[in-house]
Amino acid sequence: MAKNQQKVHAIMIPYPFQGHVIPFVHLAIKLASRDFTITFVNTHSIHQQISKAQSTDAGDIFAGARESGLDIRYATVSDGLPLEFDRSLNHDQHQESLLQVSSAHVDELVGKLVCSGNPPVSCLIADTFFVWPSSIASKYNLVNVSFWTEPALVFTLYYHLDLLRQNGHFASSDNRVDTIGYIPGVQAIEPRDLMSYLQASDITTVVHRIIYKAFEDVKRADFVICNTVQELEHETLSALNQKQPIYAIGPIFPNEFKRTKIATSLWSESDCSQWLNSKANGSVLYVSFGSYAHVSKHDIVEIAHGLSVSEVDFVWVLRPDIVSSDDTDILPDGFEDSVKERGLIVAWCHQIGVISHPAIGGFLTHCGWNSTMESMWCGVPLICFPLLTDQFTNRKLVVDDWKLGNL
Ligand code: UDP
Repeated sequence: MAKNQQKVHAIMIPYPFQGHVIPFVHLAIKLASRDFTITFVNTHSIHQQISKAQSTDAGDIFAGARESGLDIRYATVSDGLPLEFDRSLNHDQHQESLLQVSSAHVDELVGKLVCSGNPPVSCLIADTFFVWPSSIASKYNLVNVSFWTEPALVFTLYYHLDLLRQNGHFASSDNRVDTIGYIPGVQAIEPRDLMSYLQASDITTVVHRIIYKAFEDVKRADFVICNTVQELEHETLSALNQKQPIYAIGPIFPNEFKRTKIATSLWSESDCSQWLNSKANGSVLYVSFGSYAHVSKHDIVEIAHGLSVSEVDFVWVLRPDIVSSDDTDILPDGFEDSVKERGLIVAWCHQIGVISHPAIGGFLTHCGWNSTMESMWCGVPLICFPLLTDQFTNRKLVVDDWKLGNL
């Protein structure tokens, strides 16, 4: 950068869920490594959960990055709900607050940051799921960059909701079930591979209202950046580019899969490396369903039986809130004892560190997009068990299009 040229100062605001915070942090690090100044904004609640996972007040989560010379500053903002509110057990109320209330808090914070920004703030990089970026960016005269953390295929299906509606594949009393072949840049997709929200019978839920508004708002973004790989979704991206500038920026993980100095996990990470070191290459199945989806107790019990009879070694991530009830006794009687020689059950781990270990030979996954990208990058084949949202659509990419997994 020329000496008299000012650094770009961007405010980055992820949607307050684990699967969004992680790629935003990775992008913040990449941009700061290219001489951007970043002010990264988490909700108070995400900040509190990260602190709890660290068993300490994590303070400024980017302090370690600054020690390495990166100019990343940190701020937190209210999502409109009291801190003690259980967001995991009340997804809808949390999302309702993000839809109705959070923009006023973000507006106030961005106003303050813009007033005091040095170098001056010129850019807002906000998650595409927010419904307010265009109004806040235009109020403060910021370049409006929308960051989509899922594949381009999912983006384009939401972007073309009107087409799906006009053709009777969405929002009709009796949705068509034949193949969809009219979305630009998408050769063909079956209705069962659409995101769960597009297959639902009630299309007035809070998430639907968010999607309708957010995908109107994103049309006013200066450009969209998508956490996908250009070569993998070339056709979809080119068709979208006819409508609006969109750039594939993935993969954006750090080059080293070691834990970074920046805490991002909402649960405390168990170290699996010693256990994995004792296992043969490619012998261990990693099982995880990400950070958001709940799994029924019935499915947990079935998976436990499957792991028992398979006789395969495994690492199983069972988040404390994996079942959406207070039931803590979810595994079959005697299961943990019966598999203790060959199974490691943890509440959370440093996933990319685990799946990049040579002992890992496969991943039973819910097909969250980050997990999908991380496994592709580490060359780990997938067994797919999609549960909700974009996971059905991601499964189609993994299994039908790219032949990287089963089911
Ligand atoms: N993850 C992790 N430790 C775990 C399970 C998941 O670090 O024990 C990370 C994983 O690497 C990924 C993110 O959490 O980056 C989950 O995102 P994904 O899109 O796969 O699923 P979501 O949580 O959004 O459903």
